[in-house]
Amino acid sequence: MTFSPATGRVLLLGGTGEARRLAALLDGDPAVEVISSLAGRTAAPRALPGRVRVGGFGGAEGLAAWLRDERIGAVVDATHPFAARMTANAVRACADTGVPLLVLRRPGWSRGPGDDWRRVPSLAAAAASLPGERVFLTTGRTGLAAFAGDDRRRFLVRSVDPPEPPLPPRTTVVLARGPFTVEGETALMREHRIDVLVTKDSGGAMTAAKLTAARDLGLPVVLVDREPVPDGVPVTATVEDAAAWLARAGRFRPGSGGA
Ligand code: NAP
Repeated sequence: MTFSPATGRVLLLGGTGEARRLAALLDGDPAVEVISSLAGRTAAPRALPGRVRVGGFGGAEGLAAWLRDERIGAVVDATHPFAARMTANAVRACADTGVPLLVLRRPGWSRGPGDDWRRVPSLAAAAASLPGERVFLTTGRTGLAAFAGDDRRRFLVRSVDPPEPPLPPRTTVVLARGPFTVEGETALMREHRIDVLVTKDSGGAMTAAKLTAARDLGLPVVLVDREPVPDGVPVTATVEDAAAWLARAGRFRPGSGGA
């Protein structure tokens, strides 16, 4: 790494496995000081190496002020692909302050032979087009309001922490944190006689087993599409590429004297 001490501070917007792995990769590098940021949604987040701050910044303006106060040299937005507000705020705050920004985003899932996937643009669209009566909802503990008015179907909701109301009246909650296995997912779907899976297109291996289980069981999957990363913002899919980008951002940062 070639950050100068004044600009070697990196804000890592986290809440994902990728953010944790990037923090671990950069931990112990004397040229970089990583400050990981969590929204504070999860009651007991997994441990992270290095400095950690928790809670919102107060919108794009709050983030811009924080970047200046903390003399941040670069920002890596490694938030979840569905954390669109945080990404939009990071884009604005970095544009306003001139701090380089990289979005680290895992690719979405791809349909394979035998998959019956129905892509929809939103949770509301998913709720309006459910091809089944016993629904496995793995869309996170927020955002269940879209399904709350459905008093006919049965819902199995899985989340890390207890889901936020309102929930559909006929809901069973399972609290669990990935990674999950195909065997476990198949057994869970069988036990609850699930006939449709609803998930966001989060991508990644940690939670992909449910898609294999759904295919093996011949179940349809309603897949909520992600919002695209705003135009003009560099995006990378791997932790290693993000580390390489940081090295370049340090070297070419105006005033750092590097080349
Ligand atoms: P969001 O809707 O994009 O963000 C809402 C607000 O939460 C932001 O405006 C910001 O508040 C605050 N925030 C979000 N991420 C933050 C972070 N890393 N550090 C500090 N503040 C943050 O985000 P979300 O979908 O609620 O996700 C919240 C967190 O959970 C993210 O860190 C994300 O990586 C993680 N997560 C989300 C999902 C998902 O499906 N959405 C799944 C797994 C993990 P201010 O405006 O006050 O700064």
